[in-house]
Formats: sequence, structure tokens, C-alpha cells
Amino acid sequence: MTGTAGTLFTFEDTYVRELGGLYERWAPASVPAPQLLVLNEQVAGELGLDVDALRGPEGVAVLAGNAVPEGSTPVAQAYAGHQFGGYSPRLGDGRALLLGELIDAQGRRLDLHLKGSGRTPFARGGDGKAAVGPMLREHLMGEAMHALGIPTTRALAVIATGEQIARDTLLPGAVLARVASSHLRVGTFQYAAARGDADLLRRLADHAIARHHPAAADAPSRYLALLDGVVDAQASLVARWMLVGFIHGVMNTDNMTISGETIDYGPCAFMDAFDPATVFSSIDHGGRYAYGNQPPVAQWNLARLAEALLPLIDDDTDAAAEVATDILRAFPDRYRAAWAAGMRAKLGLGAAHDDDSVLVDDLLSLLQAHRVDLTSAFRSLSAVLLGDGGQAQALFAGSADFDAWADRWQQRVATTSADVATVAAGMDAVNPAYIPRNHLVEEALAAATAGDLGPFSRLLDAVTRPFEIRPGLERYAAPAPDTFVGYQTFCGT
Ligand code: AMP
Ligand code: MG
Repeated sequence: MTGTAGTLFTFEDTYVRELGGLYERWAPASVPAPQLLVLNEQVAGELGLDVDALRGPEGVAVLAGNAVPEGSTPVAQAYAGHQFGGYSPRLGDGRALLLGELIDAQGRRLDLHLKGSGRTPFARGGDGKAAVGPMLREHLMGEAMHALGIPTTRALAVIATGEQIARDTLLPGAVLARVASSHLRVGTFQYAAARGDADLLRRLADHAIARHHPAAADAPSRYLALLDGVVDAQASLVARWMLVGFIHGVMNTDNMTISGETIDYGPCAFMDAFDPATVFSSIDHGGRYAYGNQPPVAQWNLARLAEALLPLIDDDTDAAAEVATDILRAFPDRYRAAWAAGMRAKLGLGAAHDDDSVLVDDLLSLLQAHRVDLTSAFRSLSAVLLGDGGQAQALFAGSADFDAWADRWQQRVATTSADVATVAAGMDAVNPAYIPRNHLVEEALAAATAGDLGPFSRLLDAVTRPFEIRPGLERYAAPAPDTFVGYQTFCGT
């Protein structure tokens, strides 16, 4: 049995009140020995939560699922989804619960959600549990993405449960408490549409408009405008992933949000050496979710959203499909525009020129040909502008091709009106020095699983201030050692 806890949170419950049919009420499982591993004081502060109370027994009990806070109606959310292209009509929160909605200091509505909180009616064969390593990984990745300015869900806390859970081996169990601007997914719309209940679908779309795309409410065709808003948000999001080398790893439609936030950090990882074919996930045999496939996969997922919305767009299905298709067709241009603007910032190019795409593509070809670390390469370029090309040349192994490219690039930068120091500083503000490099993530999670949180805390500190070089953090800015090859990530979270 779970107890109740007092006034740590002031919950609202618009999802539960407005979207009956899209959840099951459920209580979290009790765990034997909850212990707070990490508390995100920044997120707690933004939510106006009492950090000391969260660290206290009552706070930890709530974050672990041992107590349901007052005012919370925990629910497991229902959704469907295409997983690796195959449709599953009923996925849903198999091991997660929405506790409720909180309003933050800026007036934003945020879901508070537990992951790893026990089996739910959607658990199918799963045990409802999560392990310490993957939950700390989600915490770390989300904070890194947030610090990079990329929309994301964020962890509030990770709690060790004191349980051992069965994966390939026995692992320490954990519960992640996370906040998200919502947990509405493409798969939520697929689920509602498949129910054939037009009223439910309309309530869901209206809820999504109010929460994420309020401008759509006044559009001539509000549901078409909703689709347009999601297409835009996802085009921008995936462009930002691509600019930093982020590979989500499992871009199923149930892992794609309506808000445009990155969600469900499973087998995700940052690319080391640049190669569009990079895949880390051990189950992604066909490379469906490879780095370079992410933009077309996002568009494919959005087509599934469009299909779900068709009944709301027009009673005439053909007419609805035609207008929805027009919006979907805009995805590649929107993606490309967001990506090109980001690339111009990374290279200090200022306003767009016709030849920029050639310059950028040539750099990417060089990165791939010489197997150069993406993050280090971009970060090294500001020094080239300031007359110190040593690090960049070393990364490209002294290649004359790179020198020739760098000459062209510097000539192009000289066409901008800004002085080089300003351009270099602008580049350093968008090209991170510190990202969660795979070898460092593995090292930190292995230590944490064995009970030592030191390496995790240091890595978290590095990646949450990614742009500012700090003495003593040299190893966090260095590419993986040559011995670190064949990296694989696992879904068995
Ligand atoms: P994911 O790949 O983590 O996004 O999860 C896909 C689906 O599997 C979702 O419906 C999850 O709730 C469910 N799931 C994943 N792991 C478990 C687990 N250990 N127990 C129950 N359900 C799970
Ligand atoms: Mg998921």
C-alpha cells in the first residue's frame, strides 16, 4: 500500500479531467529502501518546490512512488505507436505514471511523471521497473540537451529503490521523476483516432492546442494549424539534434512529442566521429534510426500524426488528406532552413549566402573522410579564426584538404561585418566543448551502478555548462580514445 503525503506540490489535473478514455488510474508500487541519488535543484527551483522538503523523507517517498502526494490522481497514460515501422495499437505507460501538472514560476504547465514506478495495466510482459544506470542516463542526457538549448523533458530526481531488478544481470532499481511540458505523443493521437471516437480525438486535439500551439485556436482550420505547429516544432527540434550530433535511437511514434520536446532517452547517444550512417542502438539492425535518417523519420512520424487528425480536418477524407499532405511536404524545407541557420551560426557566417551550403557540405565530407570527432572539430574552428589552427589541423591529421577548406571558410567569414574576436565568441557560444561523450557516460554509469556517484556528478557538471572552457575539464572535451570502438547502446532499460 502507498500512503499519502502532504503539501509538497500544488497539482492541477487538466489531462485527467479533459481526457477520460486516454488513461487508467493507477497507484505506484512501493519500494523497500528509497534513497535520493540526484535532485535537480534548478528544476525544483523553477517549479517553486521546497528543496529541503524534497530531500526529506516525505519528499523522497513521493519521488520513489511510496506515497501519493495530496491532490494527485496518478494515471498511466494510454497511447499507441509505430515501433520500427510496425504498429502497436496499445502501448501506454507500462512502467510510468503521470502524478499531475504543476505550474512553474513562469506560468508554464508541466507534467510531473514517474518512470520505473511499477507495472500498470499497459505493462504487457514488462516488470514495470527501471535500473539506476538508464535513469541516471536519462537525467544526464536531458540536462545536457537543456544546457545546449534543445527542448527536452528534464529529470527532477533519480531515486534508488533498494531493489534488485532482473535484466541481463541483477541491477539496482531506480525511479526517475521527470517534468515535461506534456507527455502528449504522436502515439496518443494514434490511440485516440483508432478508438473511432471523434469526440475523444477532438478533446485531445483541443487539449494539445491549448497547451502547446495556442495560436492554432484562432486559425481558420484549427486542427490543420495544430498539425502545422507540430511539424514546425519537430523540424526545428530534429535540426537541433543534427547540429550537435544527437542520435535519439528509438524514434518510434510513441517517443515523439506534440510539444516538440525530446523525450524518452533510451539508447540515445551523441555521435563521435562524423558519419551519417551512425547507429548505436543494439536493436536497430536496419539503421532505421541512424543519425542521417532522423529528418525523414520525423517526417514519416508526422505523417502518422496527420492521418490521425484527418477526421478533424475535413469530413471529406480526400480533401483532408490533400491539405494535410501540403503541410507535411513543407517539413524538409523547414528542417533544412533551421539546420542551415544553425550551421551558419556554428561557422560564424552571419547572413545567408548562396554558396554556404557547398561550404558546409564540404566540411561535413572532410569530417567523414577523416573520421573526425564532430564536437571537437566545430569547437576547434574559433581558434583557427584567431590564428591558432593547431588543434583543428591535428584533428584532421594535417590534411591539406582541410587547410584549403579553412582558407575558403575564413574568406567567407571575412565578408561578414563583425570582427574575428566577435565571430569567434559567437561560435563558442553555439559549439559545445562538453557533451556527454559515450566513453565518459559509460564510465560514469558503471561507477554509479557500483555505488560511486563521483564520476556522474563531475560529468553532469561539465555538460550542464557546455560552452565555457574550464581548467581541469580537459578530458571531458577530448574525443574518445581510439580503443573505444563499436559502441552500442541498449533498450533493455
Ligand atoms: P520505450 O522504448 O522505453 O519508449 O518503451 C516502449 C513501451 O514499452 C512503452 O509502452 C513502455 O511503457 C513499455 N515498457 C518499457 N519497459 C518496460 C518495463 N520494464 N515494464 C513495463 N513496460 C515497459
Ligand atoms: Mg517511450
